Amino acid sequence: MKKEQTQKPVEEKAPDGNAGSGKAEPPRVAGAPFKERRFRQTHLPAHFIERRKRPRIQTEPPPPPAPPRLEDYAAIIGKPELDEIRFLARHLQGKTVKMVNSTAVGGGVAEILNRLVPLMNELEVPTKWEVITGGNDFYEVTKGFHNALHGGEYNLNQQIQDIFMSYNEQNRQRMEFVEDLFVIHDPQPAGLIRSKSETRGRWIWRCHIDLSNPHAGVWDFLKPMVEQYDAAIFSSPAFTRQLNVPQYLFYPSIDPLSEKNRDLEESFIDKVCDDFGIDRSRPILCQISRFDRLKDPVGVIEAYKLVKKYVDCQLVLAGGGATDDPEGAAVLEEVMAAAGDDPDVIILNLPPWSALEINALQRASTVIIQKSLKEGFGLTVTEGLWKQKPVVAGAVGGIPTQIIHKLTGVLVHSVEGCAYQVRYLLTHPEFAAQLGKNGREHAKENFLITVNLKRWLLLFQILLGVAKPSKTS
Ligand code: UDP
Repeated sequence: MKKEQTQKPVEEKAPDGNAGSGKAEPPRVAGAPFKERRFRQTHLPAHFIERRKRPRIQTEPPPPPAPPRLEDYAAIIGKPELDEIRFLARHLQGKTVKMVNSTAVGGGVAEILNRLVPLMNELEVPTKWEVITGGNDFYEVTKGFHNALHGGEYNLNQQIQDIFMSYNEQNRQRMEFVEDLFVIHDPQPAGLIRSKSETRGRWIWRCHIDLSNPHAGVWDFLKPMVEQYDAAIFSSPAFTRQLNVPQYLFYPSIDPLSEKNRDLEESFIDKVCDDFGIDRSRPILCQISRFDRLKDPVGVIEAYKLVKKYVDCQLVLAGGGATDDPEGAAVLEEVMAAAGDDPDVIILNLPPWSALEINALQRASTVIIQKSLKEGFGLTVTEGLWKQKPVVAGAVGGIPTQIIHKLTGVLVHSVEGCAYQVRYLLTHPEFAAQLGKNGREHAKENFLITVNLKRWLLLFQILLGVAKPSKTS
């Protein structure tokens, strides 16, 4: 990747805690930087307001598109890279894999498995994906664990431990473990390891979350299960814990050919914006995230309000799952209250089958924000980088792995910092464009599914003894 930094350094914080001072606004010229101005109330054309009241969101999931073939990636990564992948897979042909996680839709893990599994199968490494089931009590416990493992408060008692173990046990009884390799994703199904002694396969725990500062009680409960696996995989060196099993670093990945990330016709992007009442002639700030406090959607609105004093922009907050997650519904309420009646804050609670719409929203964005307070890897950041967008994101979790400050994006630590950087990018479009270009290169080299696929094939070879690690490693 070319290191290019033509702009003078950007200070994150404005001394007055504001997004800076504004000037009178000259007429807007198409393609020119968005000039700063004192905010005045935007008068949206009636058709935007009408559409926003009744956004056109499909109520039924469309049939899933056929997954891409390996060959389809040649145009993106080149044929030599594909040959490497095929070579690695050749030694594993016929070896079977089972991947297990806790949700088939929504969230980063499902996103990755959706593409990884068909590619493994195409490479003749038969791979099954199974999802554990549970009642509301189980998902409340695992959501509590998730927050606690990110450092939150939690009152772990015997009843909670029993709920966790009994659903793991139910799933364990229901499932068959006949494969050569088992990849168990995240803490929710970690208890399936009890079946290890009855199987001949190798067991891998793939942890997608940041364990750098876990709630001690919850981690003490999970650790004895994790240490029974043959290997543990983390998304960043900073996420790991001391464990008595080998650990590996795998960056998560996105699929450049998925509906979420593939190129789109400009006319489709126009149509999506039109349907959602978004005005493409003015700058668009956008955060795509579940309605979760750790994603700080209210902080994003506060940052937008600071920027809005000087640049006439819109904010799109698009998320999903708020209807079936009690906490999500509460956060959505908070977000709507924070937005008040500002017609330029567009809040979208999207169904899980909105990949094309999310893709279009990201591509329509002038700046992509991911102001998380805690984060796993942050796939929405990867998606933004791949789309060559300037991304402003919280310096948490895996985000600093993706965003090299002022080279592939901008890292922020506060509402004011976020506002300052967004405003800087809106008024310095060449710098913003350079960040976008660098970000795409960084994503291509490190965070595409084809890179991830290669890592899996190598690890499987090592665990099955097909490839032996050197004695010195
Ligand atoms: N996502 C989605 N619909 C939504 C919100 C998010 O499809 O309403 C997708 C988003 O595009 C990304 C993934 O879900 O691919 C979220 O992954 P990330 O690592 O950013 O966060 P997580 O939700 O796993 O904490």
